[in-house]
Amino acid sequence: MRAVVIRKHGDLDVLVVEQDVPQPTIGDYDVRVEVKAVGLNYGLDTMVVRGLFGVVGKTSALLPRIPGADFAGVVTEVGSAVDNFKPGDRVLNDFTITCGDCQPCRAGRTNQCTRLNMVGVHRDGGAAEHVVLPSHKLRRIPDSLTYAEAAVIPVSFGTAWHMMVEIANVKPTDWVLVTAVGSGLGVAALQIAKLHGAHVIAAAGSDWKLERARELGADVLVNYSRESIATEALRATDGQGVNLVFDGGINQNNWLEYANCIAYGGRIVLSGTIGSDDGQLHIDIKTFYRKHIQMLGNCAYTASSLNSVIDEFEHGRLRPVVDSTFPLEQVQHAYAHLLERRAFGKVVLNV
Ligand SMILES: [Zn+2]
Repeated sequence: MRAVVIRKHGDLDVLVVEQDVPQPTIGDYDVRVEVKAVGLNYGLDTMVVRGLFGVVGKTSALLPRIPGADFAGVVTEVGSAVDNFKPGDRVLNDFTITCGDCQPCRAGRTNQCTRLNMVGVHRDGGAAEHVVLPSHKLRRIPDSLTYAEAAVIPVSFGTAWHMMVEIANVKPTDWVLVTAVGSGLGVAALQIAKLHGAHVIAAAGSDWKLERARELGADVLVNYSRESIATEALRATDGQGVNLVFDGGINQNNWLEYANCIAYGGRIVLSGTIGSDDGQLHIDIKTFYRKHIQMLGNCAYTASSLNSVIDEFEHGRLRPVVDSTFPLEQVQHAYAHLLERRAFGKVVLNV
């Protein structure tokens, strides 16, 4: 089968389409999916490419590896013990592979699984003609969504939902600052905050992305290439500051601004370190304790958060935002488009 295979770590040129990759084998509890679309993820995928990926206690991806944490496709074969899917079903996937047995898993905090693995990182992902996963890692695609739209849901919307709703407990009285609003996480966070009745200040580095954010419901727009996030956030909130900062990838300058514009008792929820190669920040902790600020770290999502998000799509209350699609053969161009920050929303590979 055709598949993107990473055989060594490096830059985007290590993403190579091979023509005769062996078909994955299927077990009794597995489902084989003919992949139609793969959603690209800036932080997760580029860390796999560069060999930087690490969950606490985990090594980076072992090579060779087929990337692709998010995919959507049609079921072609089910194992002998599978009774919840049949050939022809349209499915998307949960990219977290959890043990189901450790203390966090038993408590429902599946993204804190002590043996957490990820599709496209620790096992082969969806950038291939076929992929095999355990049946409980698949979900039906809502009828109204295309394969490309379904392939942008799990990592971005699942994670943003978990951060915003389960971790930060967003409320209708909140002023929420969403940074990098044009990213996959940002587009999701903006919609989820609005769905919960909050006011949203959207920040991005270009005006055209901010105009798109306005169409999705953003109340206040800040172009941080020429405006101060703190000044504009304080202006929008009559000097009170924002109650919740949604940060999809730490950036030193932004964090200095957060300290100045966050309200007393505010919280900052974060996931990922796109804006800092080594994940290091220098902050004045005095501001943080004096203002009773909570910093809330998060990685991925729980199974229940993913189910909640899919339910919202089912009812048309969230919208997938697909910036562009590329054929599998143009995988390097597709990632370049994403890394050069030319996308608003998600970039998708058609397989
Ligand atoms: Zn576990």
